[in-house]
Amino acid sequence: SKLRVGLLFGGRSGEHEVSISSARAIALALSAQQNASKYEILPFYIQKDGCWLAGEIPQKVLESGIPYLESSDSASEAQNQLISNSKTQALLKRWQSPPQVTEVDVWFPVLHGPNGEDGTIQGVLTLMQVPFVGSGVLGSAMGMDKIAMKMAFAQAGLPQVKYMALTRAQVWSNPCVFPKLCDEIEATLGYPCFVKPANLGSSVGIAKVRSRQELENALDNAAGYDRRLIVEAGVVAREVECAVLGNDQTQASVVGEISFNSDFYDYETKYTQGKADLLIPAQLTDAVSLQIQDMALQAFAAVDAAGLARVDFFYVEATGEVLINEINTLPGFTATSMYPQLWAYSGISFCELVDRLIQLAMERHPAAE
Ligand code: ATP
Ligand code: MG
Ligand code: MG
Ligand code: MG
Repeated sequence: SKLRVGLLFGGRSGEHEVSISSARAIALALSAQQNASKYEILPFYIQKDGCWLAGEIPQKVLESGIPYLESSDSASEAQNQLISNSKTQALLKRWQSPPQVTEVDVWFPVLHGPNGEDGTIQGVLTLMQVPFVGSGVLGSAMGMDKIAMKMAFAQAGLPQVKYMALTRAQVWSNPCVFPKLCDEIEATLGYPCFVKPANLGSSVGIAKVRSRQELENALDNAAGYDRRLIVEAGVVAREVECAVLGNDQTQASVVGEISFNSDFYDYETKYTQGKADLLIPAQLTDAVSLQIQDMALQAFAAVDAAGLARVDFFYVEATGEVLINEINTLPGFTATSMYPQLWAYSGISFCELVDRLIQLAMERHPAAE
């Protein structure tokens, strides 16, 4: 009989729309001729408010590509909230899964960013004791938190840019402490530097700053996204990425490059058609490509990733230096995204890729051991 794949998409994150696009592409691949006899898709849509939906609505969202949010102003809903009047109950309801979850044989989370790529969903799926695609709780959390990630990379001896880890409490501290913090950032990292919320993706909340005023604004803004923040020294470099596939035995794809004309690879550049080009393979010497592939595999192991990840690098052409930027444990997965494109060039088609990922999920599940 067919394996029932719980396709989990949408999510309570700024990358909700990207997730829908990725899930559409994966659903298409699962229903393609070579996979249709093996897999049956059960779509689960997580609304922006965190509510899980099964059945017709997720199917409609997949088909249309348009987010859906059930209106919560219905009388019964209001009544419900009045009666329960308990925050815990409201929270429970928000991630409470529909009864159809019990039918799933393997989960395919296609959620980007917080509440999906960061170990939270992976925790729920682990508790359900059903196999799922991708990294577990630790790998997902380490891969999402740029501070934890950088500590793991440093431990593994992977070269990276100079950075400082901060907390929201420091940024929003009393007005005497904040200037000292900015002084320290200026002295340690200089300009330009990049201010980032530690746990996000798609460049949301990231700013490139060149002055004290910009630094102060960017820190305040980033603190609105996350309790944990990071500031990095800016590098002038080519941006190259490498895909990793596997569990304990991992393989690295060819290296790809992103080219664009904007100030940096920000949200608009990432998601506006025609603003960025993917060059596959990147024009690099064999030695540099091999070094990047090797570093990608090391980074994957360093954060305890599983299944898949896309590892992003800076290649400083002037010095020949390769610096690791980050790992993404649930990278963009639309038909034109870097991750599947890198594998396509490396000889693994989109359809074969989703098949391999599901098989890797089954292998990793304790019952398979
Ligand atoms: P993703 O969508 O890949 O998950 P993200 O939100 O995790 O992205 P980063 O990859 O950390 O964000 O940074 C986004 C972009 O900002 C990079 O691709 C690059 O263009 C620029 N950038 C980030 N850090 C630096 C840096 N230290 N020096 C130069 N450019 C940087
Ligand atoms: Mg990222
Ligand atoms: Mg990301
Ligand atoms: Mg990135």
